[in-house]
Amino acid sequence: TLHLDTINSIDYPIYFDNSIDQLVNFIKTGNYSRFFILTDENTAQHCLPLVKEKLGDIDNYDIIEINAGEESKDIDFCIGIWKMLIDFGADRKSLMVNLGGGVISDLGGFAASTFKRGIDFVHVPTTLLSQVDASVGGKTGIDIDSIKNIIGTFTQPKAVFIAYDFLKTLPERQVLSGLAEMLKHGLIVDADYWNQLKNSDLTFPAVELIYHSIEIKNRVVIEDPKENGIRKSLNFGHTVGHAVETYSILKDDGTALSHGEAIAIGMICEAWLSHKKIGLSKAELNEIVDVITSLYPKYLLEESANAELYALMQKDKKNQNGKINCTLLTQIGQYSIDNICTEAELSESLAFYATL
Ligand code: NAD
Ligand code: ZN
Repeated sequence: TLHLDTINSIDYPIYFDNSIDQLVNFIKTGNYSRFFILTDENTAQHCLPLVKEKLGDIDNYDIIEINAGEESKDIDFCIGIWKMLIDFGADRKSLMVNLGGGVISDLGGFAASTFKRGIDFVHVPTTLLSQVDASVGGKTGIDIDSIKNIIGTFTQPKAVFIAYDFLKTLPERQVLSGLAEMLKHGLIVDADYWNQLKNSDLTFPAVELIYHSIEIKNRVVIEDPKENGIRKSLNFGHTVGHAVETYSILKDDGTALSHGEAIAIGMICEAWLSHKKIGLSKAELNEIVDVITSLYPKYLLEESANAELYALMQKDKKNQNGKINCTLLTQIGQYSIDNICTEAELSESLAFYATL
């Protein structure tokens, strides 16, 4: 079998080989008084049984199960988790094990980082998006009134355990959602990786590709944990993408986009802005458009949506002084941060997407 080295992050390891055995070993040797496994209804069904089996006769733990979906990344669910921790007798030497996608790692990480001023937590990411993105980098958080991640902390997990096998039960749309972040990793800093992705069958990415993506994300966050510089490269596609994502959710007509589907649209618009403003070549723009449109369904964005999308972009917490700030590309594999884009430019980029 393939051997993948453990990746060292800021001050914790990211395990790949036999990662659930590694989790059990971490628990056994960690001197924790008790541990808590946070799951949602889907990971309780698809992922928890294997973890329980591997835990064998270890029994100093409780399971906390929440509803699946972004609606759970909310202060009421967080209070629910804090209360259960109190009821279960959690103390400072307790450990939280976040078994699930990005909702579980963001919410569980936030609840743990604030409970008794912070208890240890680890992530066992079970979606592609959370493996290549959310579980690495130490951002935790919850939403308020559909303002995403508005409350949160920078707190690093004690370890991350990547189990490729968990992805087998993931619905196709969830795979595509994570894939958008992998494409982004290539586009911002690694043209060779982008070419490798472009030439792979991406209906189900190979474990080596996932590994490579995590290496890239990890390298970026190690260099700039608090997002003052290079970490902003990860925002490529996200200025327009976040607005499109929120717009599709608020529309509430059953066509809400996943995070990655919205980011895919955002990357097309921001590639167009890159071409228009900072010299991304026409050929590379076309290449990006071809790859993305071959993977993702077209989303209908009427011109009448532009004002609302622009208003959403202005609310983005990445902005300063009300100016809209994009991470763009000078070429594939080369990012450029802090490009101010005007309303007219952003509208034109959306119009470009609409013509595809
Ligand atoms: P998610 O946690 O809601 O998971 C998506 C769906 O997949 C859910 O229905 C879940 O129950 C289901 N699921 C999870 N694992 C499964 C499995 N193995 N088999 C079958 N179904 C499974 O969402 P997500 O897409 O993983 O993450 C999105 C969240 O991550 C957002 O809230 C976003 O803000 C956050 N995020 C955080 C960071 C960060 O740096 N902290 C980065 C990116 C995204
Ligand atoms: Zn993202």
